[in-house]
Parts: sequence; C-alpha cells; structure tokens
Amino acid sequence: MVDQQNIRQILTARYDEIVARLEKVDRDIRHVSQPLDRIMDEQSLELQNDEVLGALDDSIRDEIKHIKRTLERLDKGKYGVCEICSKVIPDRRLEVVPYATTCVECEAKSESHKPVK
Ligand SMILES: [Zn+2]
Repeated sequence: MVDQQNIRQILTARYDEIVARLEKVDRDIRHVSQPLDRIMDEQSLELQNDEVLGALDDSIRDEIKHIKRTLERLDKGKYGVCEICSKVIPDRRLEVVPYATTCVECEAKSESHKPVK
C-alpha cells in the first residue's frame, strides 16, 4: 500500500505549482502584449492570446482535473482502486502515475476506444 498522506502532499504541491504557473503565463502574456496594443489591431491580438493560452490551458487544466479527482478519491478512501473494474491499482503504477484512477488494463482498453486524432 502506498503512503496516501505522502501522495496527498505530492499532489497538493503539484497542484499549487501548476496554478502558480498558469497565473505566471497569464501575467507574462499580458505583460508582453501590452506594448503591442498600440501597433496591432486589438481584436486580432486578443484572438492570438486566446490561442496561446488555450493551448497551454488544455494540458494544464487536464492535469488540474486529474489531481482534483485524485484528491477527492483520497478523501472518499477510494484512492488506488480502479474506477472501472474496482481492482486495486498496483503500487508500482501509483508510484509512476500518482493520479491514476484506473488500472493498466482498463486504461489500455479505454485508450483503444479513443478516436484517433
Ligand atoms: Zn481496472
């Protein structure tokens, strides 16, 4: 059994880190775009920013979502149990992917069902 207290600490630290990074990216983009406001059409600039932030947000938001879900599962005492087949997820997997909510077999199954981009 993995140390859940330890996992919680790791995930909380990671969560804070991601949120801080997201805020920094947001600040940086605003800062960088400030002098350009006078040169570029405001609307097209805003669109560009949205695209950059959007791409960043997606992966970061995904991770935030994963971490939040894992913390909820920790609270409910369901951490380390596959949410699809209810089998115990091996410690080895949790050490590599602390916010895994499914076992390797179920993940492989759901991956193969995903549409290919
Ligand atoms: Zn499973």
